[in-house]
Amino acid sequence: MKNIMFIAPPAAGKGTQADLIVEKYNIPHISTGDILRDIAKEDSEIGNYVSEVLSNGGLVKDDITNQLVEQRLKKPDCKNGYIIDGFPRNIEQAKIYDSILNRLGYDVGYVFLININEKDLEKRITGRRICENCKAIYNINSENNVPKIDSTCDICGGRLYQRKDDNIEAFQTRYKLYLEKTEPIIEHYRKQGVLYEIDGNHTVEEVFKQIDSIISGDGRN
Ligand SMILES: [Zn+2]
Repeated sequence: MKNIMFIAPPAAGKGTQADLIVEKYNIPHISTGDILRDIAKEDSEIGNYVSEVLSNGGLVKDDITNQLVEQRLKKPDCKNGYIIDGFPRNIEQAKIYDSILNRLGYDVGYVFLININEKDLEKRITGRRICENCKAIYNINSENNVPKIDSTCDICGGRLYQRKDDNIEAFQTRYKLYLEKTEPIIEHYRKQGVLYEIDGNHTVEEVFKQIDSIISGDGRN
């Protein structure tokens, strides 16, 4: 099994696709968010630093993140492939990731770029509603995900709410930032011949089918 990386705009369904791959192929899902939250619980110099940055809502220094990612990828559960998530965030980190892979003797594997048109993303984000009780997620702009009763959770009857940053203005800011930061990363992997473009304007199942046919089409790795 090759390693897997996703490049996708906010609300493109990257997390859901990662979950489906984990379920089918039983490889670890390495997220920098999880790594940082774990280390923050440790009583060490790095642990205390990360804990402080996270509780202030800041960004952990790149060299610390890089070091923690490398340590995590060294663990035996990563030897047969993994999904890396939240890393690299910029072109500098992409280059550092190359050298980490080099040191560990790993390949970058598949870099899946999920393409979705901007209007669709906007609809997904502005239509998203979350149950305040069980956290189930609905979308009032998507036919197969509308709650049966207005503003009420199908599962538990809880009240549905909209997250503050699920509005058009916040989306456009995040989307612009995404394009700026990721364009150079996309080019970096395109040049390496490891970029696979996925049409994300489909249901979860259809998107997964595209990804899975690339993974399984390669036979045994
Ligand atoms: Zn609910």
